[in-house]
Amino acid sequence: MNRKVIYPGTFDPITHGHLDIIERASRIYDRVFIGVAHSKEKHPLFSVKERVSMLKRATAHLKNIEVEDFDGLVVDYAKKKTSRVIIRGLRMLSDFEFEFQMALTNRKLAEEIETIFMMTSDNYAYLSSKLIKEAVSLGADVKSFVPSFVAEKLRKKLR
Ligand code: ADP
Repeated sequence: MNRKVIYPGTFDPITHGHLDIIERASRIYDRVFIGVAHSKEKHPLFSVKERVSMLKRATAHLKNIEVEDFDGLVVDYAKKKTSRVIIRGLRMLSDFEFEFQMALTNRKLAEEIETIFMMTSDNYAYLSSKLIKEAVSLGADVKSFVPSFVAEKLRKKLR
């Protein structure tokens, strides 16, 4: 059985919270496709090329991971990868409403595709890319929240 999953997101930039979900997913599924959404409407700090490259570097130790960009609907990306599962991470209750809405919309668009939620590890429950960017621009050292090469790239962009 070839069990595949897609993990879509903006990853602007990758944090230890994302990496934790990726590592756990890679132990459950045979192949994990990380789809880096262009997310132009979010005006990401890093270009999609930079985000893909950071994810590749951060997941280089994992054998069954592939990283690529995608534009458009998540369900279309899942179909392209012939994956019937979308994985999303859940942190606080505040993630729930948006994720619930999104999962139900995706089910309407493609009922054969399931969204599976993985609960954050307690160490990362408060961690978000947005918070990290704010912290760096205010002078914080974020090496315990993101891989050190990502912390360095953030410092260069934001200071
Ligand atoms: P999006 O723009 O799709 O929300 P993100 O990069 O912000 O993209 O998040 C991608 C996925 O990773 C989402 O499912 C999000 O809930 C999850 N995620 C983000 N940070 C964490 C974290 N600290 N712990 C667990 N899951 C997380």
